[in-house]
Amino acid sequence: MIEKSIYEDYEIDFSDTYTSDDAYYFIFNKNRELYLENEKIARDIKDLNINFSLFIGKYKNKDCFVVNSDFDKGYSLKEVYGLNHDLYLISSKAVLINDWYISHQYCGRCGTKTQMDEKDMMLRCPNCNQVHYPRIAPAIIVAIRKDDELLMAKHSYHKTNKYALIAGFVEPGESIEESVKREVAEETGIEIKNIHYLKSQSWPFPNSLMLAFEAEYESGDIKVDGDEILKAKWFKKEEIERYDSDISISDWLIQRFIDTDSV
Ligand SMILES: [Zn+2]
Repeated sequence: MIEKSIYEDYEIDFSDTYTSDDAYYFIFNKNRELYLENEKIARDIKDLNINFSLFIGKYKNKDCFVVNSDFDKGYSLKEVYGLNHDLYLISSKAVLINDWYISHQYCGRCGTKTQMDEKDMMLRCPNCNQVHYPRIAPAIIVAIRKDDELLMAKHSYHKTNKYALIAGFVEPGESIEESVKREVAEETGIEIKNIHYLKSQSWPFPNSLMLAFEAEYESGDIKVDGDEILKAKWFKKEEIERYDSDISISDWLIQRFIDTDSV
């Protein structure tokens, strides 16, 4: 995962204060693919058919826009990560703004066409006053240790056949620590202790905030449902099959387990 802060190169600003023509354009199509010119971010949009354009602040001290357009093939976010980590960092924010604006053109409560707020990144309903902000979905991921082994599971919804760390969405009404305990118990049947938070990562696939934890095994035998989780087992360091990419906080957690001496 990228350790650098998005705010090293980007300054948040949703007002209508932009004046510059010398701008950066994060242009997405309906498949959330990014338009690049010679693998670089677009500096010009005059030849494109524009569906909408939103000012989102300053990128590298220049005005920066999210633009939605129709073009056949761009770069997926994961491909952008492979090309340029800095570009991925800001693109992964831009795509969330793009998705939010497309999905909230009409009020979810009364169906009226929404209007953009003048100051905030917010769409307001002129009929019922409901406000619609960009939404992120908090999710947890946890590395569970038992002596020198790490718990991993095979999910039925994963495209690859690899084992992964236990992860899941935070449910309404629960704390993130309760979410960690519940997910682990539901997916593997075991109880855990000493849960502690490590760090988080924006995960725009499609709109999560991933919160990473470590915990220790407390009790119970592995029992999986065979539906969502096909198998779960304890892995020694040398048995772990790594991912192809280091994009995710999951890979960072696994590396941390490998690098840490067992207690
Ligand atoms: Zn409404």
